[in-house]
Amino acid sequence: MRWGKLPHHKTLEDYDFSFQPDLDPRKVKGLAALSFVEAKANAALLGPPGVGKTHIAVAACRAGCSVYFTSLDDTVRNLTAAEAAGRLTNKFGTYLRPSVLVADEVGYQPLERAEANLVFQVISKHYEKGSIILTSNKTFSEWGQVFGDEALAIAILDRLLHHCDVIPVNGPGYRLKNRLAAIERDAQVA
Ligand code: ADP
Ligand code: MG
Repeated sequence: MRWGKLPHHKTLEDYDFSFQPDLDPRKVKGLAALSFVEAKANAALLGPPGVGKTHIAVAACRAGCSVYFTSLDDTVRNLTAAEAAGRLTNKFGTYLRPSVLVADEVGYQPLERAEANLVFQVISKHYEKGSIILTSNKTFSEWGQVFGDEALAIAILDRLLHHCDVIPVNGPGYRLKNRLAAIERDAQVA
């Protein structure tokens, strides 16, 4: 088991499903099943900040025999640097070797054309060879803006969505819940 660069080791046991009543626990637990990895299926966790998309992505990828966790921005930065150094083919291996690639935070930064093209290459090389679990705060209809090109976004989505569980997580933000509770507590003490 290779853990890539996981931001933490939270599990689905740590995830409070009662806080996201619209989220089907079975769907989420399906991602952590071996069959998901064996089918080389993809998953997209979509929703606003703080709903637990990254938490679920990290917890889900436990079924993979090898996992690489990266933000899309880091991927783009690393691939761009590798391309400039003439080591692009080698660098692609980092993203293509693991059985599960977690691409966190798709859509936080709009990409340049050359950057979007690198992402397309990763997705198309990964297609039907391994699983991708991505998280995004954008809807798929906004991907044209994210990738700076409608046709390229469609080409990426075409491969990504062919075998993909799309899981919207649209409930309240968890960070804010704790913050608001703390603020209310402080206000009562004062
Ligand atoms: P996102 O990636 O959607 O912005 P994160 O996964 O980073 O959100 O979640 C923010 C923080 O809140 C993390 O520490 C995460 O573990 C926690 N969290 C979010 N939702 C839940 C939940 N339903 N139950 C337990 N912890 C949660
Ligand atoms: Mg996140």
